[in-house]
Amino acid sequence: MIYNEDFETLPREVLETLQLKRLKQTVQRVYHTVGFYRRLFDEAGVTPDDIKTLDDLKKFPFTTKQHLRDNYPFGMFAVPMSSVVRLHASSGTTGRSVVVGYTKRDIDTWSELVARCLVAAGLTKNDIIHNAYGYGLFTGGLGLHYGAERLGASVIPMSGGNTRRQITILQDFGPTAICCTPSYALNLAEEGKAMGVDMKALKLRVGIFGAEPWSDRMRQEIENVLEIKALNIFGLSEIMGPGVAMECLEGRNGMHIFEDHFLVETINPETGEVLPPGEPGELVFTTVTKEAFPLIRYRTRDLSRLFTEPCRCGRTLHRMDRITGRSDDMLIIRGVNVFPSQIEAVLLEVTGVEPHYHLIVERADNLDTLEIQVEVSEQIFADSDEIKVLQNIERRIVKDIKDYLGVTAKVKLVEPKTLERFEGKASRVQDKRKI
Ligand code: AMP
Ligand code: ZN
Repeated sequence: MIYNEDFETLPREVLETLQLKRLKQTVQRVYHTVGFYRRLFDEAGVTPDDIKTLDDLKKFPFTTKQHLRDNYPFGMFAVPMSSVVRLHASSGTTGRSVVVGYTKRDIDTWSELVARCLVAAGLTKNDIIHNAYGYGLFTGGLGLHYGAERLGASVIPMSGGNTRRQITILQDFGPTAICCTPSYALNLAEEGKAMGVDMKALKLRVGIFGAEPWSDRMRQEIENVLEIKALNIFGLSEIMGPGVAMECLEGRNGMHIFEDHFLVETINPETGEVLPPGEPGELVFTTVTKEAFPLIRYRTRDLSRLFTEPCRCGRTLHRMDRITGRSDDMLIIRGVNVFPSQIEAVLLEVTGVEPHYHLIVERADNLDTLEIQVEVSEQIFADSDEIKVLQNIERRIVKDIKDYLGVTAKVKLVEPKTLERFEGKASRVQDKRKI
């Protein structure tokens, strides 16, 4: 089934003509409305008139997450605030996170693209959708919600957490589809089993999972324990949120990218060179219909590769492989994006600890855990009330990490000079998750 037959099955030449027209308009618009882009293009010696073919996009400079941070919060908006109807922020709430805005039409487009994803998963207006992505600043919850409403399905706005309640709702409301992170799906299955619920007997038939990396092994496990079809959905706040790309039920091999709205390239993350389809590299997206927050050649840091072979579902849209890693040090912990530098910034604010730390990420019962090992200062041991002081420091770090980054961490204070020191590039993160 295809939600928008007209646009999802365009012959490639027609699609490319549409892309070029939209690209020209977008590049013109950002040049004239976003000071940042005018400067960026001027410095690179390019003007909007340089776009004559789609290939000319290569001549344009990349936009990076640092650019977005430098323009925090609204510096890259291309419309006045009066036209912005929604704001979201990418997870990680320390100052200078990334804030994105949407016009009414952007929300409309986003809803349609998510509706396309749901239909690609075989859903119709007769389905009941249990949406366990977090509602709030994170794009997952509301993104899926609007798409489900656009489709006309019945949506349960569950949001994350409160697992026992989720299981009761799964039993009582009988949803036919579930949306959440793949690790949370497994966690739900496990908790349900512990509650004595036959999770295979639920009405669920399909799951739409994303927001964090997962593997075919996890897919098989989810499909076994819940007796559903598990599909991959991809997106990022900067580009829109969920619904940038989605697997189809027929192909289940790579996610179709909605190329009538987003242009995609893969690049060598070291050199920036554009790679041919099929070669693994970093994904770079250009939005060609967004009004409030258009981006030109945005470096996602997500590693994948493109498939251009036709798909049996009939969509002509190219596909991207599952995300195989990152070209930076971003971690995704229970769906929340975390940079080690953000943790470091929190630690630096705490008196009594040194900037020597290690991060250990693991997965227990399908839930991610983060342990922060950090050295305390020598002076602490001179204090007569040592134990109490240490407890306070630990509590303060746990609270600040939760408040600023939105993740729960276990903190282990260690004695001065006990953590490994690095010569050259520090490798403070041990990611022991097996996905
Ligand atoms: P956010 O902007 O907070 O929604 O985070 C977006 C990031 O989540 C992406 O850049 C990816 O690193 C990750 N992500 C989203 N969807 C997937 C997926 N299906 N598989 C792997 N990683 C994903
Ligand atoms: Zn397909």
